[in-house]
Amino acid sequence: MEILQQRIEQNGNVLSDTVLKVDTFLNHQIDPQLMQLIGQEFASRFKGSNITKIVTLESSGIAPSVMAGLELGVPVVFARKKKSLTLVDDFYRAEVYSFTKKETNDIFVAKDFISANDVVLVIDDFLANGQAARGIISIVEQAAATLAGVGIVIEKGFQNGGKELRESGIRVESLAIIESLHGGNVEFRNQNR
Ligand code: 5GP
Repeated sequence: MEILQQRIEQNGNVLSDTVLKVDTFLNHQIDPQLMQLIGQEFASRFKGSNITKIVTLESSGIAPSVMAGLELGVPVVFARKKKSLTLVDDFYRAEVYSFTKKETNDIFVAKDFISANDVVLVIDDFLANGQAARGIISIVEQAAATLAGVGIVIEKGFQNGGKELRESGIRVESLAIIESLHGGNVEFRNQNR
């Protein structure tokens, strides 16, 4: 997605050979117009898949997911990283090792919000080693729902998550794939889109 790559080039801050900071439009401040375009792009890629629900992880997955949900006309569920006091009834739980925080945490979704009849699109902001995506997918599986695929705003192609998910037969659509962050430079994979 050309406009997303341009924003990453203009506003992305390469923190190390493995970490990209995009706090000006995705991870802290949010650019609603860019999010709308991202939502439209996800919707167009998955429009034939009969999606009934989008499932993401708080907090940075919410903005692109809501925009995709608006386009597809489906609700968005975000997994919580803390079991809030209001999450009192039955819930699905999965363990996620955080790439950025270097710790393992549980994520939770109330059983009310995903059922075996759902066809789920999983969306997240970044894909690195795939732990976050696998945690959400585990919840989709616990609900016995159908997984239509995974939509990622920025995939770091030099880490293994995307490769492993695709090898296990899961459809992964990433709007920008970064090949390298070496020397502070962002190099994209050519995607012909
Ligand atoms: P994974 O679970 O695939 O290893 O990492 C994906 C999760 O870690 C995403 O939900 C995202 O929040 C965070 N993450 C991984 N790499 C980066 C990065 O380079 N920059 C930012 N801002 N977040 C990242």
